[in-house]
Amino acid sequence: MATQKDIIDQTFNETIKILSDLINFQTVSGTPNLKLIEYCENKLNKLEAKSFKTINESTQQANLFSTIGGKKKVNDGGIILSGHTDVVPASPKEWSSDPYVAREKDNKVFGRGSCDMKGFIACTLAMAPFFASENLKKPIHFSYTFDEETACLGAPLMLADLKKRKINYSACIIGEPTSMKAITAHKGYNEYITHFTGLSGHASDPEHGVSAVEYAIRYSNKLMELRNELKKRKLKKTVFSPPYTTLQIGKINGGIGTNVIADKCSLDWEARPVSNEDGEFINKNIDLYAEKTLLPEMKKIYPKANIKKITVGEVVGFDEKEGSEAVNLVCNLTGDNSKDVVSFGTEAGLFQEFGISTVVCGPGSIEQAHTVDEYITHDQLKLCLKMLFDLKERITA
Ligand SMILES: [Zn+2]
Repeated sequence: MATQKDIIDQTFNETIKILSDLINFQTVSGTPNLKLIEYCENKLNKLEAKSFKTINESTQQANLFSTIGGKKKVNDGGIILSGHTDVVPASPKEWSSDPYVAREKDNKVFGRGSCDMKGFIACTLAMAPFFASENLKKPIHFSYTFDEETACLGAPLMLADLKKRKINYSACIIGEPTSMKAITAHKGYNEYITHFTGLSGHASDPEHGVSAVEYAIRYSNKLMELRNELKKRKLKKTVFSPPYTTLQIGKINGGIGTNVIADKCSLDWEARPVSNEDGEFINKNIDLYAEKTLLPEMKKIYPKANIKKITVGEVVGFDEKEGSEAVNLVCNLTGDNSKDVVSFGTEAGLFQEFGISTVVCGPGSIEQAHTVDEYITHDQLKLCLKMLFDLKERITA
């Protein structure tokens, strides 16, 4: 009989093959991922998985949700293994080799997405035949989403569809690179661009123009005021550092020269809320200030003046629930009870909001994600396969 080690060794070779294929699909966020999704779907459907896709026709992108096994009812609290299929862009000139061709060296696999997070997806696909060949007590769901890196655009589409199906899920493991440690919380991540439109004019007569730059500065000052307010709203008991919502202006762009009143200006800013309420607090207050204070002044001189805030993305935060089933499951499987928080956003908050107990745990180090010459080590892939193997053992009838 094959031992656990035999199976992991055998699956490991398959994992490397699949990972190479996945890296080959250039699924940069915002670009089509249908070929990759088709590849995964074919593999899973050969194992008699039940699959469905949610497709964004305009962007040619799809999420895949496939279910394997469960001789009992399919809605009996299955386990979701979730990964995003998109990767951040790579500039080939900076890489030692083609970022979209997997390269193996020193027990590492190099390639864009190897770590974040096609390595995890490859592990789940390579283990799928073992899940399929057992009598599982509960189903395993494979969830592969699009556009996570750009404010989690894909997952909400899939979750809305799951809602209609009324299936129960007991836990969700999101395989973002955490060096196989259980991550139980992260802050939200909200990103905005505010555009100011004023009226250009000669600098010698500022009263007859509307300086977009000056209004953008007043708007910025209000944001800084809110930043201080947010500090006072800090959580008493929290795992986050700092323990309050942060706010930051990253870019300001406007004006053409010293002696011209600027008619255009834009501000790029972000907030990392520790709670949804803080996110709402910021939006409500800054919108009110723009609408009730700044705009009336601007419009008095120039009726077409405008302030427009664009939400680039709002990724909900994720915070451990007492006695989380998903966290316990992963800690039991990996034998590692250390829990940690991270400073990067994931889809975890979305799954949690949906009512599914969720944990973030996957192979590879976050330090490798998004870097030039991104890689994942063989050891990390093997640890992930071991976790999935133990999961299979645990839910085999
Ligand atoms: Zn990621």
